[in-house]
Amino acid sequence: MSTGSAGQSKISILVAQKLRDVPDFPKPGVLFKDFTPLLADPHGLAAVVEDVRSRYAGRVDVVVGIEARGFILGAAAAHALGVGFVPVRKAGKLPGRTHRAEYTLEYGTAVLELHVDAFVTGHRVLIMDDVLATGGTAAATCDLVERAGGQVVALDFVLELGFLHGRDALPGREVHSILVD
Ligand code: AMP
Repeated sequence: MSTGSAGQSKISILVAQKLRDVPDFPKPGVLFKDFTPLLADPHGLAAVVEDVRSRYAGRVDVVVGIEARGFILGAAAAHALGVGFVPVRKAGKLPGRTHRAEYTLEYGTAVLELHVDAFVTGHRVLIMDDVLATGGTAAATCDLVERAGGQVVALDFVLELGFLHGRDALPGREVHSILVD
């Protein structure tokens, strides 16, 4: 199942107001979507967390956040849902034994890792990040979660860059974005 943005809902309007466009960051030609103003707004952060909580209450056993901005949202959402939090990190950061997924970026490749013992087998997992762009990061994270024995229930993003068709990299997955650009 795949769901779209919340359209003109209050939460999507708030997110649209609080995201900042930064041209040519981190390199020329990229329009970076900076969500630090949304986080800095106490109402903004609370509204996003409550929106996520209402969607997944009782449906997940753990939240996985993708380094680094997915840690912020994911940990807050896990707390609101009353479940644990598990980080997916860039190569070499996790101290224990890890599963490793290499995936393609616009230029070159990247590696993400997840502790092999992060889940009880069959745990229902919500994956969170700030932005869904091409979907490579999210697809690699699904792969890691499943190799560690988790069951991906859904992926949740604050913003989806619709023109990059990231959902195509996540066939058959439940995907939700508060705002689609
Ligand atoms: P992708 O694998 O292409 O879907 O890229 C997703 C990852 O890159 C996420 O962790 C995002 O935080 C980050 N990202 C990609 N594009 C942008 C953008 N335009 N603004 C902010 N973050 C981005």
